[in-house]
Amino acid sequence: MHCPFCGTHETKVSDSRLVADGDQVRRRRQCLACGERFTTYETAELIMPRIIKGDGSRESFDEDKLRAGMMRSLEKRPVSAESIEAAILRIRQNLRARGEREVAARIVGEQVMEQLRRLDQVAYIRFASVYRRFQDLDEFRAEIERLTGDLS
Ligand SMILES: [Zn+2]
Repeated sequence: MHCPFCGTHETKVSDSRLVADGDQVRRRRQCLACGERFTTYETAELIMPRIIKGDGSRESFDEDKLRAGMMRSLEKRPVSAESIEAAILRIRQNLRARGEREVAARIVGEQVMEQLRRLDQVAYIRFASVYRRFQDLDEFRAEIERLTGDLS
């Protein structure tokens, strides 16, 4: 992204938000060379970030894979296909709204957990128990305790 004032391409994003029903991202940028601020509108389709995997390799965002992972957690749960698609759309929007070209796979996982938590607590626990197996176990345990408290 070139600065319209001095032409340098060193700019930083200070704010990103979705507009036009999620089809566009409006970004506030500041030029790192001359300090001028400006706004850009970018088409959301073009800016789905690439995913940085745990081993440092990169891959394209794969919606089918995301959906398959969520469906495994949602198996036999009373959640409509419509709600699942809406959750996937929100994940895509949230990832795009970050305004970064690459996003750690961990961020995607957290997005999925956030959406599953809203959809269905059992699916959330299923997903989180697999996802967080090698991560913050204590945090996960605390979450389970909190949720089982809610359910009783
Ligand atoms: Zn500039």
